[in-house]
Amino acid sequence: MKKIAEFLDKYFVNTKWTCAVCGKDIFNDEYFCEDCLKTLPKNDKAICLHCGRKVHITQNYCLSCKERMTSVSLARSAFNYDIPISHLIQALKYSGKKYLAEVFAKSLNEVYEGGDLTADFMTFVPMTKASQEKRGFNQSQLIAEKLSILNGLKVENILEKKKDTDRQATLDKFQRMLNLKNAFKVTDKKLVKNKTILVIDDVLTTGSTAESIAETLKKAGAFRVKLLTVASVATDITFE
Ligand SMILES: [Zn+2]
Ligand SMILES: [Zn+2]
Repeated sequence: MKKIAEFLDKYFVNTKWTCAVCGKDIFNDEYFCEDCLKTLPKNDKAICLHCGRKVHITQNYCLSCKERMTSVSLARSAFNYDIPISHLIQALKYSGKKYLAEVFAKSLNEVYEGGDLTADFMTFVPMTKASQEKRGFNQSQLIAEKLSILNGLKVENILEKKKDTDRQATLDKFQRMLNLKNAFKVTDKKLVKNKTILVIDDVLTTGSTAESIAETLKKAGAFRVKLLTVASVATDITFE
């Protein structure tokens, strides 16, 4: 882990006035140089109308959404989970490059301005107390707080993660769902009742975390739950 941190440290410079990817000096407020801007895996082509993942141009929905709609009413993401965005997300999480939260917030706000994600307030995917103490911060909370400055939606801290589900990657879909059952708790039900809530997270992978959170919020009385992530993993591999 230390090696990865050193590697990332070497390649990502911790200021706003250098390109977030290559470190070159820039003279704009885009956070990226002209060259790197062109390489960003923007999720702005055909997307699943429900979960927002990249799909083939002929599809309206991805295959997993066709099979099973989730408690999340709508999800969108700014990027596909590809290089260099995947590296930047890791740099934020594991190398403490907190300024990247601001970089991501700008891209998320562009998606938010599309108009589908209007909500009463925002919240974020929580970490367990132990995990957050270890990392020192919650990257999704940081991103939500930076986005709040841009879109004016308040961030409410209403969720608690009761148990660690970090080894999700080694489990199959069914085990993941079992593992996530009752993993989250709403700490302020009054705030949630009849509200449309926009949940912020870094990456949409299988979607089981988002689904578990949406179920928890809806059980607590939320009207609608939407999701906005920095990046999403395309689940349909047939189209490439
Ligand atoms: Zn660059
Ligand atoms: Zn979908």
